[in-house]
Amino acid sequence: MREGVELKNLTTFKCGGPARYYDEPASAEETAADLKFAAENGLDVFVLGGGANCLISDKGFDGLVIKIGKGMASYELTENADGTATVRAGAGLPLIAFATRTAQAGYTGTEFATGIPGTLGGGVFMNAGAYGGEMRDIITSVTYIDAKGEIREVSGDDLDFGYRRSFFAKLAVEGKTFVILSVTALVHKGDPAEITARIEEYRGKRTSSQPLDMPSAGSTFKRPEGYFAGKLIDDAGLRGFALEGSAARVSPKHCGFIVNEGGKASAQDVYDLIVKVSDTVFEKSGVRLEPEVRLVGAFEGRLPVINICSFGFKYGVPEGSNLVFDVRSLKNPYWEPELKFLSGLDEPVRDYLAGFEKTGILIANDVDEIEDLHDEFRKAGKDELYVAVGCTGGHHRSVYCATRIASELRARGYQVTLTHKDIIKDACDE
Ligand SMILES: Cc1cc2nc3c(=O)[nH]c(=O)nc-3n(C[C@H](O)[C@H](O)[C@H](O)COP(=O)(O)OP(=O)(O)OC[C@H]3O[C@@H](n4cnc5c(N)ncnc54)[C@H](O)[C@@H]3O)c2cc1C
Repeated sequence: MREGVELKNLTTFKCGGPARYYDEPASAEETAADLKFAAENGLDVFVLGGGANCLISDKGFDGLVIKIGKGMASYELTENADGTATVRAGAGLPLIAFATRTAQAGYTGTEFATGIPGTLGGGVFMNAGAYGGEMRDIITSVTYIDAKGEIREVSGDDLDFGYRRSFFAKLAVEGKTFVILSVTALVHKGDPAEITARIEEYRGKRTSSQPLDMPSAGSTFKRPEGYFAGKLIDDAGLRGFALEGSAARVSPKHCGFIVNEGGKASAQDVYDLIVKVSDTVFEKSGVRLEPEVRLVGAFEGRLPVINICSFGFKYGVPEGSNLVFDVRSLKNPYWEPELKFLSGLDEPVRDYLAGFEKTGILIANDVDEIEDLHDEFRKAGKDELYVAVGCTGGHHRSVYCATRIASELRARGYQVTLTHKDIIKDACDE
C-alpha cells in the first residue's frame, strides 16, 4: 500500500491527480486485504485497469485505487475435443495480449479486440467492442471479489452485456465495491490466414481513422441510439475545436475522440471540453451525448450545480425545490423486519430496492427530467438547481433513489451535491 501515488501516467489521457492510497495486488488474497483496509478506514475504492477509459480529476481520487495489472495477468488456453478452446486469463492481462495470443494459437473470436487498449477486466466491465465484435461474444464467465472479500462467479445471461454495459457496470452504478479477478472465454478453431487478414484489416482501419499518436481515451462519448457521436460532433461544427488556451481538442482526424495535445491538458480542460461538446451537440441536434469515459473524482465549472436532497414527506418538502420526485410508489423496505432499522445507504436495502425493475425505470425517468430542467436553467444563466426526492420517512427509498440519481448524473458529467435531510430522524417513525 502506497500513499499519494500519481495516476496521470497510468491513464491513456495522461492527465489527472494522485490517489490518496494505491495498491497493485498480485492475488485474490491481496485484493481481499485491500478491500478490508478500505472498509476499515471508510475509504471509497476505485479499481483501475489500463486507464484507457477513464478521466481522473486533477484533484485525484480521495480513497484507495486498486490497480489490477501485471500481478494478475495469467493466460491459459485449453483445447477442447470439439474444435473449441477455453481460455482462462487474469483480469490484469492487457486485452490486446489476450486477443493476440488467442488468435496466434489459431482460434477465432478475439480479432476485434487486438487493437483495444486496456485490460481484460476493463474490457469486460465496459463490454468493449469494435468492428462488429464485443466481449459478450466470447466471455462465458467472470470471477470477482466483493466488498466482503467473498469470491463469486457470474456466467451466461447473468453477465447482462449490452452496449458498453455489463453486470459489473450495473453493480458500479448501484454503488457496489468489487474487483474482477479472472475471465473465461470460449473461442473456435479458425483459419489462421483469415484470422491474420481480419486483424490486419482492423489495424489498417484504426490507423487510418484514429489519432493513435495522441493521448486520448478512445471514443469520448457513447453512441446515442440511432446516431454516431462523431458525426453529430462534426455536424455541430466542432471538428478540431478547442476551448481558448486549452490543449484538449476534438480530434480533427476523428471527431469522436478528444485528444490531449502534447500531454499538456489538465483533466479539467478535458472535462470542460466534454461539457462544451455535449451542450453544443444538444443545442444543434437535440441529441444528448453521454460520456463513455468514466469520470473519476470531482470536476468543476458546469453550471447550474444540481443539488439533490432526499427527504420524508412527513417532515416536509425542502424549501426552494425546483423539482420534487415522489418515490413512495416503490415497495417500502421499512416493512421488512430485517431492513426496518437500516437506511438506503446500507447494502441490504440497496439490494432490495435494486431488485425491482420499477426502481430503475423511475430513476431513469427522473434523471431525464433533471437533464431537461438543467438545460433550461443553463440557458437562463442560473447557477443552482434544487431537486428533492421524497418517500414517507426519508430513510430508505428516497435515500437510495437520490444516491442513484446523483451517481447517474455525475457519470454524465454534471456537478452534483447530495444531502439526506431526514436520514437521522427516528426510523420507527416511518
Ligand atoms: C486509442 C484508444 C482506442 C480505443 N478503442 C476502443 C474500441 O475500439 N472499443 C472499445 O470498446 N473501447 C475502446 N477504447 C476504450 C478502452 O480501451 C476500453 O474501454 C477498455 O476496455 C478499458 O479498459 P481498461 O482496463 O483501460 O479500463 P479502465 O479505464 O482502467 O477502467 C474502466 C472502468 O472499468 C473498471 N474496471 C477496470 N478493471 C476492473 C477490474 N479488474 N475490476 C473491476 N472494475 C474494473 C474501472 O473501475 C472503470 O470503471 C479505446 C481507448 C483508446 C485510448
